[in-house]
Amino acid sequence: MNWTFALPTQVTFGEGAAEGLAAHIAAFGSRALLVTDQGLLTQPFLKRLREGVAWSGVFADVQPNPTVENVDALATVAADADVLVAVGGGSVLDCAKAAAALVCNEEESIRAYHSEGAKLSGACLPLIAAPTTAGTGSEVTPFAVLNDEQKGIKGPMAHPSLYPDRAVVDPLLSASMPLGVTACTGLDALSHALEGYWSKNHQPLCDMMAIEAGQRIFSSLPKALATPGDRAARSDMAYAALLAGMAFQLPKNAMVHACSFPLSGRYHLPHGAACAFTMEFAVPFNAPAMAGRMERFAEACGFATVIAMADAIGELKRQGGLPCTLAEAGIPAEAVPELVAESFHPLMNNNPRDVSPDDLEQMYQELA
Ligand code: ZN
Repeated sequence: MNWTFALPTQVTFGEGAAEGLAAHIAAFGSRALLVTDQGLLTQPFLKRLREGVAWSGVFADVQPNPTVENVDALATVAADADVLVAVGGGSVLDCAKAAAALVCNEEESIRAYHSEGAKLSGACLPLIAAPTTAGTGSEVTPFAVLNDEQKGIKGPMAHPSLYPDRAVVDPLLSASMPLGVTACTGLDALSHALEGYWSKNHQPLCDMMAIEAGQRIFSSLPKALATPGDRAARSDMAYAALLAGMAFQLPKNAMVHACSFPLSGRYHLPHGAACAFTMEFAVPFNAPAMAGRMERFAEACGFATVIAMADAIGELKRQGGLPCTLAEAGIPAEAVPELVAESFHPLMNNNPRDVSPDDLEQMYQELA
């Protein structure tokens, strides 16, 4: 059993933790740029944050599934900041992480690093990440998922400099997510727990966090979906999503995320819905290649069998109103060969069981 565990991000967790942002900012300087999106600007907690900190500027133009142009625009504004403070969901966090790196690197566009193979130097502006969803785990990962529409490339860029310096996870920031966002982000967190656990690069500490995250998600996500005001369930989901982020940041994702990129890139499924789309298939598909480990995960999460756990994933999707079939996702059956061909992202190589184009054809037939 040989492994290395590291997480360079300082993590602060708890209800009210975001009230301490000013002190976190002071550790890096006085010019703090707030990065967020238009939808969040009107949220009461963001109004309080805007009043509680002396910001040097606000960039609120992050788009869902941020493009390389979006990152470039933020980097232009961020050039004279001492620290970026990203308050938002995965899109805001990923856009800010990429821009913080771009500011300190030579090329003018993040496209060079995301789509054209240029290597980041490792220099990066300080970044504080405060997630407002309970799902992506982006606050503790070295990844940023970007969309290069011009080149048709949607996928993650990865570099150690993309780890935020600090993660401030305040469950109160994600307590008012609407149903669909709760479901998408909660199932994204479950996909991180499962993928970190079944990745060929899995390791003991990440396994522990993955199982703990899985237990909490299966117990608390149904409650957060049924009773949005359930504060304990919301807090538990914020913690579970953080744990799931830590569980996959080193092992990295596998087939579920590889398949998600064309689903979100071409058919605009939100990231979590795209991951949830194939998760029920991937669980029983991967189990035979995991020497009993999938059974142990399912048992720890309270299920008698792996199939019972897969069924519970389907139930969560239905409860959250996420698409469960190609028709519900607005994907024509004729698109399947294209989806299959575009699913072989390098993350597929982390999958515990080899995946062939025929396997994916069969999966999409089952999902028809
Ligand atoms: Zn994900």
